Amino acid sequence: MNLYLGIDFGTSGARAIAIDAEGVIHATARFEYSIRDISTWEAALFSLLEQMPLEVRQGLQAIAVDATSATVLVTDAKGQPVSQPHIYSDACDAQIVALVKTFAPQGHTVLSATSSLAKLVQAIAQLADGDRAKNLLNAPYYFLHQADWLSFLLHGELGISDYHNALKLGYDVAQLCYPDWLTYWLESEFNRCQIEVQLPKVFVPGKAIARLKPELAQKFGIHPHCWICAGTTDSTAAFFASAGSSVPTVGAAVTSLGSTLVVKICSQVRLDDPRYGLYSHRLDTDREILWLVGGGSNTGGAVLKQFFSDRELQEFSDRIPASQPSHLDYYPLPSKGERFPIYDPDLLPRLTPRPDDPVEFLHGLLESMAKIEARGYELLRSLGASPIAQIYTAGGGAKNAAWTDIRRRHLAVPLVPAIQTEAAYGTALLAQQNILHPQSM
Ligand code: ADP
Repeated sequence: MNLYLGIDFGTSGARAIAIDAEGVIHATARFEYSIRDISTWEAALFSLLEQMPLEVRQGLQAIAVDATSATVLVTDAKGQPVSQPHIYSDACDAQIVALVKTFAPQGHTVLSATSSLAKLVQAIAQLADGDRAKNLLNAPYYFLHQADWLSFLLHGELGISDYHNALKLGYDVAQLCYPDWLTYWLESEFNRCQIEVQLPKVFVPGKAIARLKPELAQKFGIHPHCWICAGTTDSTAAFFASAGSSVPTVGAAVTSLGSTLVVKICSQVRLDDPRYGLYSHRLDTDREILWLVGGGSNTGGAVLKQFFSDRELQEFSDRIPASQPSHLDYYPLPSKGERFPIYDPDLLPRLTPRPDDPVEFLHGLLESMAKIEARGYELLRSLGASPIAQIYTAGGGAKNAAWTDIRRRHLAVPLVPAIQTEAAYGTALLAQQNILHPQSM
């Protein structure tokens, strides 16, 4: 049977899910790894393959990998990492951000201290401070994202990425090229300090790159014609999983009720607004270019956790009269500061007055979070995003029936549970849909 494998490298764990042409799951695997220790990445990748039953491996037609966005590394010309990775949350020094500001356009996503571009600039500065002879020996260096390097281990072609991972590197996802301001800067750095760093060639996510290395096909008993497809980021993969497709329809939206509250919508209009931390991932379909627009509020489960255990959350939620609005008007935040749908780094949590009854208090919290979610979608609409058709819900809060009922009062669209929640499932869909219906790109 023809099967498709999605591999997800998240913050703490790696997962793999194999699906068939209908999207039915045939096998799953997990492996804990340390994102900071690159030696564990390879072990995790091969363990996931090994954990697949032999008949699944034999049927694999395509594999794709998603991983954390803006986790990057530098390799030598053979693909050997020259240092430990810079992970998504690592913030570069203020001088590096100031340097990026001198050549990147104002308001661009790359101006954040955690962007892949800031990490590239920092990596070049570190190499320039290092051993000159070693730099010449290793040249050219390759700058890769986590998913790029893991895919490289499978297909063996160094220097390939996808336009979801490359967004925070400054890749121009509208024109499908690196912008001149970035290539000029890289060239001038090469002339200044003789450090040659190759940026990855960027593919459409899901597009077949190359066949699995023959030695790996043989070692793991995987179908010898198995394709390795360009990957994506973990949050985009999670959207695909929730919506049940890597080619979502316009207006499909996903709310993730995890530690934070994240909303995403598949829109015909691209939105980028660094104030709100808003950016758009490109989605190519047969007919048109769509955009996955997303924004994240700091409200969410982390605040609930400050007051309730998971058991209490369930117990008290079951007693909430969800059809009646709560009169309590909060802005639940775990600490100072909010980005979306209000941009205010100084916004303080508003959690008073606090009633004695925990059920009443929780009702107020969930009602206020539902209002923030609705305000988030309203902001996206007012900035030009396509209207919402339906909202899939994912994350720890999705199982809370009272919260769903409260949200239904504030969001005038159908609320549906996520089709699947594992990012690995979304990446399996990406591989499957691109192999079954390859696009002419
Ligand atoms: P993340 O992956 O963002 O850390 P999860 O999707 O695993 O988050 O969800 C965890 C969050 O879900 C926790 O912050 C917890 O407070 C919240 N949570 C757990 N159970 C419930 C529930 N029954 N109702 C609402 N929220 C819940």
